[in-house]
Amino acid sequence: MSFSPIDNWISNDPEVTGLLQKEWHRQTTTIQLIASENFASPSVMAATGSILTNKYSEGYPGRRYYGGNQVVDEIEDLARRRLTALFGADHANVQPHSGANANVAVYQALLEPGDTVLALRLDQGGHLTHGSPASLTSKFWNFVSYGVTPRNDDPENPGELIDFDNLRAQALEHRPKLIIGGATAYARKIDPRPFREIADEIGAMLMFDSAHVAGLIAGGSHPSPVPYADVVTFTTHKTLRGPRGGAILCREEHAKKIDSAVFPGQQGGPLEHSIAAKAVAFREAAQENFSTYTDQIVKNSVAFGEALVKEGFRLVSGGTENHMLLLDLGEFDAELTGKEAQEVLDRAGITTNRNTIPDDPRSPFITSGLRVGTAAETTAGMKEKDFATVAELMTRALRNRNDEAAVTKVREDVASLLTDFNPYANFTK
Ligand SMILES: *Cc1c(COP(=O)(O)O)cnc(C)c1O
Repeated sequence: MSFSPIDNWISNDPEVTGLLQKEWHRQTTTIQLIASENFASPSVMAATGSILTNKYSEGYPGRRYYGGNQVVDEIEDLARRRLTALFGADHANVQPHSGANANVAVYQALLEPGDTVLALRLDQGGHLTHGSPASLTSKFWNFVSYGVTPRNDDPENPGELIDFDNLRAQALEHRPKLIIGGATAYARKIDPRPFREIADEIGAMLMFDSAHVAGLIAGGSHPSPVPYADVVTFTTHKTLRGPRGGAILCREEHAKKIDSAVFPGQQGGPLEHSIAAKAVAFREAAQENFSTYTDQIVKNSVAFGEALVKEGFRLVSGGTENHMLLLDLGEFDAELTGKEAQEVLDRAGITTNRNTIPDDPRSPFITSGLRVGTAAETTAGMKEKDFATVAELMTRALRNRNDEAAVTKVREDVASLLTDFNPYANFTK
């Protein structure tokens, strides 16, 4: 259990080396439940840490503004080919530095300043770059929003699901040029087809932001928006388990505009070390065992949810079908805020993030919800029964949050559970 990707890191910088060692310890002795995180493979990390960080390559393969890009061209072409093959898309741009950059590049490519865009509201599960007042996107474009249906405690007919009637009504009223599907805090499968139907009804373009579920789509556990959307954006570091970064897939008719919006529209030199690492991740995601991984993620979420419900938590939308669970803490303990839960769990060695729930009465800084995810610890090897244990540990810490000894005991139990799970022992070379 001593394998660490930084064991062999030769550094003349003891301060940074020491901090990396501390972070290695944190990542492997506490439970990682942040839904947007994962453990990238050693191959992905090796490419990220490679000599490609030395190269300037503004432009695209065959059309660079610098010399010496023969090899880099092959690398970026390989990444693009692997990505279009993985998702069956016409065209790929692998240069966006992040998911947010990818989204803004798409707006820049397809819209004029002031054009109207229809997206899921932030407090209903949307992303900041979907027009939040805090994001520059809301200053350049006119965002209007749709929401989720009201809470409904009937298990046969759960509420808090994307409200397609509202989406259609908003589309007919505001005639957006672009409709966005996809979410950042939403635990259910998203069917791309009704989005396309509504977009066609009003002649809008459709973008899907699959940042969270790109891996689940690649593994075949979730429906692909690629056949339905004009453009699909995503991050490469969430369920897709690659390096930190973004990517864009689009129909051939938008390819030129998308490429120009990424560079020179928005970014300078691409991060070819990240692009090489993206290529590695795309190959990994095309292997058969990646589907086994993504199916296990979903099974683990379902088991985790069932265990949490038994402990008295309410799941927003009554369940989960992906890698994430959005917990409404109010049902468990009306006084417990998301902020306090996150802090208590941090002390107990369980890493989570607070999150608003639909129509949250508390502010985004305090919140009434907690978001947890199973992608990272599934990589580390956890199965359904282990997530039931995690649910028990979480509950014990939160119930006894004012008893320091009890929280410390949970932290010890967490460390002991994790002796069985090492993310880096599970990757074969
Ligand atoms: C995470 C996320 C992003 C942004 O990705 P970054 O790499 O953090 O910029 C965009 N959209 C959605 C839906 C996300 O979940």
